[in-house]
Amino acid sequence: MQTDAGVTRCPQCAQQIRVDPGYVTWCDQCDWNVDPTGPDHKHPAWRLKLEHQLADTLYRELETGRVNRPGWDLARVTAYLLSAVLLVLPLVALIGGVALLVFYRPLWLSIPMAAVALGIGLMLRPRAARLDPDAELVHREDAPVLFRLLDQIAASIGTPRVAAVALDAEPNLYFTRVGWRFRPVIGLGLPLWTGLRPQERVALLAHELGHGKNGDARHGWVVGAAESVLEQLEEAFTEQPYDEYKLDAAHDLGTDTSVGHLTRLINAVVGPIVRGYAWLLDRMNLRANQRAEYLADRTAGEVAGSDAAAWALERTLLADSSHRALERALRFEKDLPPLEAVRRAVTETPKREIERRLRLSRLRETRTDSSHPPTYLRTKLIRTRAATSARVVLGLDDSRTIDRELAPAAERVLKQLRAAL
Ligand SMILES: [Zn+2]
Ligand SMILES: [Zn+2]
Repeated sequence: MQTDAGVTRCPQCAQQIRVDPGYVTWCDQCDWNVDPTGPDHKHPAWRLKLEHQLADTLYRELETGRVNRPGWDLARVTAYLLSAVLLVLPLVALIGGVALLVFYRPLWLSIPMAAVALGIGLMLRPRAARLDPDAELVHREDAPVLFRLLDQIAASIGTPRVAAVALDAEPNLYFTRVGWRFRPVIGLGLPLWTGLRPQERVALLAHELGHGKNGDARHGWVVGAAESVLEQLEEAFTEQPYDEYKLDAAHDLGTDTSVGHLTRLINAVVGPIVRGYAWLLDRMNLRANQRAEYLADRTAGEVAGSDAAAWALERTLLADSSHRALERALRFEKDLPPLEAVRRAVTETPKREIERRLRLSRLRETRTDSSHPPTYLRTKLIRTRAATSARVVLGLDDSRTIDRELAPAAERVLKQLRAAL
């Protein structure tokens, strides 16, 4: 099908289309072959339509500017309330256990009952967020220029400075709060970070710090803690293979089966309630998260300028191929430094390929169960708003200095990745 001239005809609408060797050939007229491998999951048409509609309503709400106050939308408040109910459970168990010990007699009965209650309380207790042990921490004194930039962005948004930067080999950037002091940490994934132009770096850092400012990490922690309580409950109230076995054995031996039947009955009643609750919490949380992404994008546009914010989002579409380029370089390339291979993979990507991935995001990501809204809607929202100019500017020299500051930690990350391959 490929011709020498680097053009071919679309088999669907006969439009002339360009062929970029090494990239997918697709038609910009009729979207032929935009998604050559097909979607991961097959969903019925009505469901896809519903999900497109939901994505569009959220988009329109933000486009008309009705959501101005970040944080407290209905989905988020509902997610918080649903979580709070669950987080009270471990507390009730702990207080109950102590109360049994103090007030209930005889002691030989209260001690085992209290032990059960305290055990449940401890098992369900919320835990502080930890960093991935593979991440390499970069501190203020290791990277003065990077932290100066982060401080500038934080000041311009009005949020506290970050305590540390965590470097890893994942194809993304993130914001989190670590430990019981909830110290703000920015995570930089080398495959994405390396391929960014200076102002795109400002945009993505501002997006992440925007999450911090809007309380999204706190929200994520509360919902995450509630979800882990739900997981434990789900496990406790789902029929285990062992339960079945015990019941069968009791039948065969002709012994009492009432406990086994009771367990089955409780599982049949409580199990679906727990699963329904988990589903509802999940939906509310995803809705709140999608909105949070749009709002963080808005912050990115205000700090880095709207053009850089939109470009930066388009770069994130290449993060997975950057990650593959990095792995390939670590495996096979002897002459080219791995991070240089990532840079090339990004800069050599034709505009048409980025456009294809934007369209692909419309086909694949317009889903209520994906944590981020589709990238094409996110860039569209940034571009339909009045253009903004940058409040924080990163020059090329400073951007290169940051790369040098990160080099020792990056070397350690690459070494780990090489060992894992
Ligand atoms: Zn076509
Ligand atoms: Zn985000």
